[in-house]
Parts: sequence; C-alpha cells; structure tokens
Amino acid sequence: VTLTTRLIAFYLAALAVVLGCFSATIYALASSHLHAGVNARLRTALDALAAAARIEPGKVVWEPAERLAHLGAGNPDETIYWAVFDEERRLVDQSLASTSGQHDLTYIFVEARPEQPLDVRDRSGHLWRWMRRELVAPESEEEPQADDEVTAPNAVPVEDEGESEAEPQRSQLTVAAAIRLDRVSASLMWLGWALAGTALGIAALAFVGGRWFCRRALAPVTRMAAQAAAMQPAQRDARLVVPPTHDELAALGEALNRLLDQFHQANDRLQRFAGDASHQLRTPLAAMVGQMEVALRQQRTAVQYREALERALGQAQRLARIVETLLMLARLPSGACLSTTETLDLAEALRECAQRWAAHPRTGDLHFDVGGLRENVVAHKELLAQLFDNLIDNALKYSPGGAKVFVRAARHGSHMAVTIIDQGCGIAAEDLPHVFVPFYRSSQSVTDGRPGVGLGLAVAQQIARSFGGDVTVESRIGAGSQFQVLLPLAPQREPDLGNIGHATATAADEACEPAPGAHSTATVAP
Ligand code: ADP
Repeated sequence: VTLTTRLIAFYLAALAVVLGCFSATIYALASSHLHAGVNARLRTALDALAAAARIEPGKVVWEPAERLAHLGAGNPDETIYWAVFDEERRLVDQSLASTSGQHDLTYIFVEARPEQPLDVRDRSGHLWRWMRRELVAPESEEEPQADDEVTAPNAVPVEDEGESEAEPQRSQLTVAAAIRLDRVSASLMWLGWALAGTALGIAALAFVGGRWFCRRALAPVTRMAAQAAAMQPAQRDARLVVPPTHDELAALGEALNRLLDQFHQANDRLQRFAGDASHQLRTPLAAMVGQMEVALRQQRTAVQYREALERALGQAQRLARIVETLLMLARLPSGACLSTTETLDLAEALRECAQRWAAHPRTGDLHFDVGGLRENVVAHKELLAQLFDNLIDNALKYSPGGAKVFVRAARHGSHMAVTIIDQGCGIAAEDLPHVFVPFYRSSQSVTDGRPGVGLGLAVAQQIARSFGGDVTVESRIGAGSQFQVLLPLAPQREPDLGNIGHATATAADEACEPAPGAHSTATVAP
C-alpha cells in the first residue's frame, strides 16, 4: 500500500466521520423543528376546539362555532382533522373529512396521554399525528347560579338562550385533532437524501483533490527515491536533488546528502588507510624478501647467514608491531565508549609510567610533575599506559638530547588534563590537521629519517576517545609541541563500600560524554 493511498484512506475516513456527524446533526435539528411545528399547530387546533365547548358546573356542552370550519379546509396534507367524544368515548362530532371512513378513531385513546402527540398509521398507510384534550366540567353546586358559570380558559362564551331541553348532559368531552405527517416525512426524506448526496459529492471531490494534492506533495520523495536507486557507489559526486521548498522534505534531502558526504569521506579514509597499511606492510616485507634472496644467491659463511637472519628478524618484528597496532586500532570502538573501563588513580598510573621510562637513555630529560594529585580517572590500565608511552616516545623522538620533556596533570572541568610538553622540532601548521590520521607522517620526519610508521598518534587519540576523552595538540615549528590528554574524572567514591560497583558504572556512563574541545584536536600555538 503506497503512502498516498494510506494518507487518502485516513483523510477520507476522517472526512466521513465529520460529514456523518454534520449531516446527522442537521437532520436531527430539522426533524425536531418540523415536528415541533406540527405539535404547535395541533395545540392551536385543540385551543380552537376547546373554545367551541361551553363548560359549566356539572356539564360540558359541545357548541361547534362556525369558525371551526376552517380547520378542515385547505391542502389535504396540511388539513387539520378533528373529532369530539363524550365520556363513554362515543363520537359526538368530527370534521367533515374525518367521516371518510379512513380512521378507526378509538385508537387515539389507546396510548397517548392528553396533550401528548401520538403517531398512528391509518388503513391506507398514511401516518397521522393525533393530540387530544379532555374538557371536564367542574363539580356542580346544589343550586347552580347563572353567575357561577365556569368557562374554560379558551372557551368561547356561548349564549344560554340556545340551550334546549334535549341538550345532552355530559360531564366530560374529549376534543382531538390530527395532521397527516406525510409532508413532514417527505421533507425529512428529501433532506436525508440531499445530505447523503452532498456528503458523497464532497467525499468524491475530496478523494480526487486529495489524491492529486498528496501525489504532488510526495512527488519530491518519489523523485529522491528514484535518484537514490539509480546512484552507483562509484559516482562520488552524485547527490539527491533537494527541492527548494525549505520544508521537511528538503531537510530530509539535505540530511541524506550529508550522509552521502560522510559515506564518501569514510570510504576515502578507508581506501587511504588500506593503501597506507599495505604500503607500510610491503616495505619491510620487500626488504625481508630482498635480504633473503641476496643471502641465498651464493654460498655464505655461518656469520653472514646469521647477519642476514638477524636483519630479516628485525624486519619481521617491525611487521609484527605494525600488524599489532593495526589490530588494536581495529578493536578499539570508534565513536563509542569502551565497556571495560575502570576507576584508576591517575598519580599511580603516571608513577608507573615514569618507572617504565627509567631505563631509557634520555630518562634524565623526562620530568613528571604529579605531586599532590589525588583524582581518579575512568580508563583502562594497559591502554592508558600505551597512550602515555606513545606521546612520551614522540616527545623524546622529535626533540634533541638534553631538551626537557614535561608531563603535567591538572583538573580541566569534568576531565583531568595530562599534558606532555616538549621543546623539540614542533609541527608545521599544514601538518597539524593530519597528525592524528593513521599512517600520516610529516614530510620533515620522513626526510630526517626518524623511525616510525605514523600510527602512534592515531592509536593514542582513539584510546583516549574510547574512554570518553580526547587528545589535542598545540605546536609551532621550531618551538616544540604540547599534547593534551583529556581523561574523564571518576566520581568521588562513596564511603559505603557496598556502592562501589554502582559508582564505577556511573563513572563509566558519564565518561562517555564528549571531552571539552573534542572537535578542535589540533591547533597552532601562538
Ligand atoms: P610516527 O611518530 O611514527 O611518525 P605518529 O602518529 O606518532 O607517527 O606521529 C605522526 C606525525 O606527527 C609524525 O610523523 C610527526 O611529524 C608528528 N609528531 C608527532 N609527535 C610529535 C612531536 N612531539 N613533535 C613533533 N612532531 C610530532
């Protein structure tokens, strides 16, 4: 199911609910209005009928006035039919039209209470609404006085002179009036069909319009999908065409293009890395093969074979070191934190480092300034040692004998900063941005014939990042370099020993936040 279809289905379902509710409300309002109109007409008719009865104490006398005639005239759909009954429910009088024999009028007493509408279908299938009113004579006094005549509120006073001896004595009369509901039913049916037709028309229009609009709105996505499908990994410059709409789709296109940029950059780095790695591996391998071939070309003395073997061993050891370093780079998590970090006493780690370098010929140039250091850091013991060793090795390698190398530690926000400062050759501004790239070596180091393969700084930085820290450099050619290692501080240990495991876990979690300045890894010193 396409996105357009899903959107249209949702949109039509919502529209159907809205239209349904709207139509039902209109229908209910119209129906109640029309029925209320019918009821009002019936009550007016009952008032007129009641006025035609004279109500006196002890008797109700039916005296149809001439003005009642108009109740029975007019359009048969709107004509009001009426009937008058005595207390035994015998028909006393009725409108002319009611005599057509269409109705069995007794049913009007069956269900409805007085003044309540009752809808009844007659024998020919027409629906009628009836309403009745009881006219009850008040109790008669012993000697009725002419002044005591009681008249119903709506009753029309009738002259006494017309009353004859034969006038029936009734204590109660029921007047009833009816209207055919066919016209109301027809109007409501018409309204129902009109509402249904309009709703269907609107839904059809909404379907066509909505489909067109959805397709138009989603066209850039369809285009981008087609462009992405047609892209080849070799097409380095191929990017999605982003519509100039500055909306979510444009943002999606730009995000995908940024992803493509990153993909190509990562791919370039990988290719460069593979090229550099094979180059670095090929050089000692070629040297080894060459030495062995030379050694085997003619018969040699045992001493000569030994010398050849020793040179080959040297090359093999260099190869092994490169391979091990590459393996370490591959195993260290890139962009994520190492899961095996622990809380380490930084002063202790730096003291052990000083001991490792105690046997180095330039140990006298190396100064560790770690007095009064109490802070703990989150790191991995062996990897931290490797990190310090790489930086100290470089500081000694790239500075002349006698030039001092200082190792200092200080607090730096939520991190500890260990700085290795040398007074060596420094790094040229054009080399600075690349020194952390695997296998990168400055042309000066290559020309000077300094040993190395260009992996030391890459490994150091990746180790620091795997702790949630970083390595940054400030340097100026001829003036020396300053490498700063940022290590996340471990939270203060609780005196309660039972919580150590928890405290360590928290430290490791917090350590994963990026170190300050993690993005400016190389800066030129002023
Ligand atoms: P390597 O030392 O094996 O060449 P590194 O990755 O350790 O590889 O260093 C990369 C480059 O950074 C070196 O080739 C050198 O140019 C420069 N570099 C590193 N440390 C220093 C330093 N302390 N002083 C001057 N240059 C340095």
